[in-house]
Amino acid sequence: MELFEKIKDGGRISASEALEIWNGGFYALARCARARVESLGLGDGVGYIVNRMINYSNICRARCKFCAYHAKAGVIDAFRLSDDEILKIVEDSVSCGAVQIMLQGGLHPDFDLDWACSILRKISSAYPKLALHAFSPSEVICFADGAGVPVIEALRRLKDSGLTSLPGAADLLVEDIRKNYCPLKCSVSRWREVMLSLASLGMRSSATMTFGMGETLAQRLEHLEFVRSVQDECGVFDAFIAWPLAPENTELKDIPRLGAAEFLMTLALSRAFLDNIRNVQSGWLTEGLDIAQLALNMGANDVGGVLMDEMVVRAAGIDNKTGSSGMEECIRRAGKVPFRRDNFYRRIS
Ligand code: SF4
Repeated sequence: MELFEKIKDGGRISASEALEIWNGGFYALARCARARVESLGLGDGVGYIVNRMINYSNICRARCKFCAYHAKAGVIDAFRLSDDEILKIVEDSVSCGAVQIMLQGGLHPDFDLDWACSILRKISSAYPKLALHAFSPSEVICFADGAGVPVIEALRRLKDSGLTSLPGAADLLVEDIRKNYCPLKCSVSRWREVMLSLASLGMRSSATMTFGMGETLAQRLEHLEFVRSVQDECGVFDAFIAWPLAPENTELKDIPRLGAAEFLMTLALSRAFLDNIRNVQSGWLTEGLDIAQLALNMGANDVGGVLMDEMVVRAAGIDNKTGSSGMEECIRRAGKVPFRRDNFYRRIS
C-alpha cells in the first residue's frame, strides 16, 4: 500500500489520506501505526511511570456535559482537600515510589493563582525531586483571569513555584463541540495560547483527545490536525493520549459508549497521523489492561502512569486499577520490554 510506504519512510499524511487508511479497516490502521512507530525508531521498549493523581476538589462552575466528576453531576459530594490533606497524600505517594504527582480539580474563583503557587511551593520544597505535572489549561486560564494577569505570567509564577509540566486536557479541540458540551472551558485558541506560553518558558505538556461524544470522524481529524500544527509551531508535547468518553453518569449518558475496536482504530489513526509526537499512551485507565496490551501493537509505546486514586474516570463508573507489576505484565504480554520512566519520558530503570 502506497500510504504504508509513505509513513514507513517518515512522510506526513493529510486528513484525506488518514481517512483512506481508516476506510481500509482495522488491519490497515494497525500496519500504518506500526510503520510510524518504526519510522520514529522507537523499538520494543515500553515505558510507564509511578505517579499519583490528586483530585483536590470537584467544585467546578464549568459543568461540562461529559463530566461525571463535578459536584453538580450528583455522583460525588462536593469536597475540597486542605493543603495538609494534599501534603499527606504526597507523603504517602512518595513512600510508595511515586516520582510524579498530578493535581487536578475544578474551575472556581476560590482556587486562585496564589493558592496554586502556594501548594506547589509546599510540595516542591518538601520533595524537590518530585515532578509536579499539574493543572489543566482551563485551570491555568482560570488562575490567570482571576489574578488579572496574562497566561504567560501565571505560568511563569507557577513554574517558579515548582510546576514541572502541564497535562494537555484538550478534550476535543473543535469549537462547535466545545460550545455545545463545555462552553466554560477554554476555547481552542486559548488552549493554543497556553501551549505556546509553556513552550516559551521551556516547559513541557501532553496532548490528549477525548472522543466518542457524537463527533464525526472529520472532527476527530480536525482535532489531530490542530494538535499536529501546535506541535509544529512549538514542539511542546512529549506525548499524545486518547481515550473514549465514558458517558455513564454524565449528561451524555444516552450516547452509547464506543467499543474497544473503535478505541484501537482511533489510537492507530492518531499514531499514523501525528508524525511529530514521539510517545503515544495506551489508555489503560478507561479501557483496562487487556485492551492496553493490544494497543501496544497498534501504535502505543507507553502505558502511562499507575495513577493511584484517580477519581474523574471512576465517577463515570469505571474502576480499573493497577500497580507496577500489572503494568509490567501487560507490557511483557504484548511482547515488549518494560521500563520505568520519569516525567519527561526518560528511562529511570
Ligand atoms: S471536565 Fe473539568 S472543567 Fe469540566 S466540569 Fe469536569 S471538572 Fe469541571
